[in-house]
Amino acid sequence: MKAITFHGVGDVRAERVPDPKVVDPTDVVLRITTGAICGSDLHQYHGRGGTLVETGAVMGHEFMGMVEAAGPEVREVRVGDRVVAPFSISCGRCEWCLRKLPTQCSTTGRAVFGGRFGKVFPGGQAERIRVPFADYLCEKVPADMSDEDALFLGDILSTGYACAENGSIRPGDTVAVFGAGPVGLLAMQSAQLFGPARVFAVDRVGYRLALAEEFGAEPMNLDRGDPAAELRALTGGRGPDVVLECVGHEVPFTQAIEAVRAGGTVSSVGVYVEPSMGFPAREAFFKDLSLKMGICNARNYMRPLLPLVRNGKLTPARIVTHTIGLDEAPRGYAIFDRKEDRAIKVMLKP
Ligand SMILES: [Zn+2]
Ligand SMILES: [Zn+2]
Repeated sequence: MKAITFHGVGDVRAERVPDPKVVDPTDVVLRITTGAICGSDLHQYHGRGGTLVETGAVMGHEFMGMVEAAGPEVREVRVGDRVVAPFSISCGRCEWCLRKLPTQCSTTGRAVFGGRFGKVFPGGQAERIRVPFADYLCEKVPADMSDEDALFLGDILSTGYACAENGSIRPGDTVAVFGAGPVGLLAMQSAQLFGPARVFAVDRVGYRLALAEEFGAEPMNLDRGDPAAELRALTGGRGPDVVLECVGHEVPFTQAIEAVRAGGTVSSVGVYVEPSMGFPAREAFFKDLSLKMGICNARNYMRPLLPLVRNGKLTPARIVTHTIGLDEAPRGYAIFDRKEDRAIKVMLKP
């Protein structure tokens, strides 16, 4: 089959690789109908975060498709079902999965499709993929939902929603979202479900801020100066009640803590690739703030969020800017990485 493989920093290629097969009796093999390139794929693309994925490894953890083959112990899904899976691979049975922390699964060693930690499983930027623990991981998609609407349940929509939920937004609150990339934009959509009076979108990419505005956010261009000072100025000197950090770098994380009001909440879902960074501990301490951060346990959100998408309360497909063939994925990585051609979300059609 055809797949996108890693060959070194900045070098991904469309190549022929062996077709996946059912290995364990709880596996399925999907024929992928839609995949996507994620911001965290760019970390691998740049070799950030220490270990590189192996040369020739199949990339990607955002995908959905049709069950083409199922192992003898698969009960919940059958051949022909249309399903979406989360980005992380978990067994559904270990202590961590039972604690509703499937990203911490000890059976797979916190594995991610196409990732480099824990057990290695080929990714979903391909024509087919092996999905282990299929009964736990696969969520059936109703026939009336498009791939574009369903796909993001497996990662970026669940991540954006979890970020907003962890912010404990109350009706009438002021919320600031740092980062207007795919996750930040979906965090803004999700934040609106909690009834904030105002949502600010903080970024420096004009076309992304324009979409944030369509999602009801007030754009704040970072080029105007210190966003924490600006946010305080715009909120009568107090700062937003909730800050959602969707970038994953020291600077926006620090600015989020500086911006939030006393007793407010900072919720962070940006993927931090550096092992440590500066933390404004004194400011956080004297502000009595709440901090929630971490990798999203997307499996927990897929089923509850599905009806919100199906009924138009969340419209994740609006962030899609490019739909290209799998062969063109190397170009997709390049434009997404450089924010060229107004790229926000690049979808891949095998
Ligand atoms: Zn992702
Ligand atoms: Zn587990």
